[in-house]
Amino acid sequence: MRTMENPLTPEVLADPVALTRALVDIESVSLNEKAIADCVEEVLRVVPHLTTYRHGNTVMARTDLGRDSRVVLAGHLDTVPLNNNFPSTLRGDLMYGCGTSDMKSGVAFALHLATTLPEPRYDVTYFFYEAEEIESRYNGLHLVAQAHPDWLEADFALLLEPTYGIVEAGCQGTMRAEVVTTGVRAHSARSWHGVNAVHGAGEVLRRLSTYQARRVTIDGCEYREGMNATGIRGGVAGNVVPDRCEIEVNYRFAPDRTPAEAEAHLREVFADYELTVTDCAAGALPGLEAAPAREFVAAVGAAPIGKLGWTDVARFAAMGIPALNFGPGDPNLAHHPDEHVEIGKIRDGAATLHRWLAPA
Ligand SMILES: [Zn+2]
Repeated sequence: MRTMENPLTPEVLADPVALTRALVDIESVSLNEKAIADCVEEVLRVVPHLTTYRHGNTVMARTDLGRDSRVVLAGHLDTVPLNNNFPSTLRGDLMYGCGTSDMKSGVAFALHLATTLPEPRYDVTYFFYEAEEIESRYNGLHLVAQAHPDWLEADFALLLEPTYGIVEAGCQGTMRAEVVTTGVRAHSARSWHGVNAVHGAGEVLRRLSTYQARRVTIDGCEYREGMNATGIRGGVAGNVVPDRCEIEVNYRFAPDRTPAEAEAHLREVFADYELTVTDCAAGALPGLEAAPAREFVAAVGAAPIGKLGWTDVARFAAMGIPALNFGPGDPNLAHHPDEHVEIGKIRDGAATLHRWLAPA
């Protein structure tokens, strides 16, 4: 039994701006996506040109028109925790609220097209998925890839993450590692009997602070790498020369490097130190070769740029599906208490997607 009226009425679905607002006003902080997934599923189930499936709080709907190519349009339904920014408010041309930028305005594109475009130029698989903002094991695309990998089959995928209306291609990889310096413990009153591991960290930090990060251009998109200490731990007591210091390093690497190559590079930089990789996610190449991708970039009419943060495009790339990011929100405002989206960017982005997907 429904406990509330579905706010996603046909009038709302017809207008990407009203639809963004209605989606923002259904609270859906990660792991609380049931209400919004119910609303989305309910409106998709009655669309005659779609077949709709659900896995957990991830809803998938697809056309089966026998087109030569299939594209995925995907958006996550969850948001980061609220921060005095719920429900939405309008101020001039700006819509404020949690999820306006990241990424209910993008979700609104997909849901608007799913319900209003019966004959797209490609077959389309629409994904409205749960839990993108938290650990990967909860991620709706990850869960679907395990349970129903066939749902993800496509020639190209578009993630409607905030990019401020331009195409952000591929994404950088990320690797976390721990670099350890060791010494010999001693009483600090007779410190010459020991070797200070915290002092030893100085050389590790010097290599990081003087590190010349690469800038790599792939298919016209620049990826700017970075290698940084993100934490440091050491010390035994106020009168002890410490024998161990751990420096946490985060390496963001361009997608021309595999995780194995990134690790080899880290081991080269810290050749004489103990180093353990603690976490890694591969990057994704720009993915501009597929015909639907080229046609999409032409519809946008501006050159793509490289995506610096990690996104779910890498999940598609790992399955051999080229993927791009495109959404109306400003990525700099994602997760920000002042999060907002420009109404004009929603209208422009929706028009771009229509140009690309509507039959010629
Ligand atoms: Zn997002």
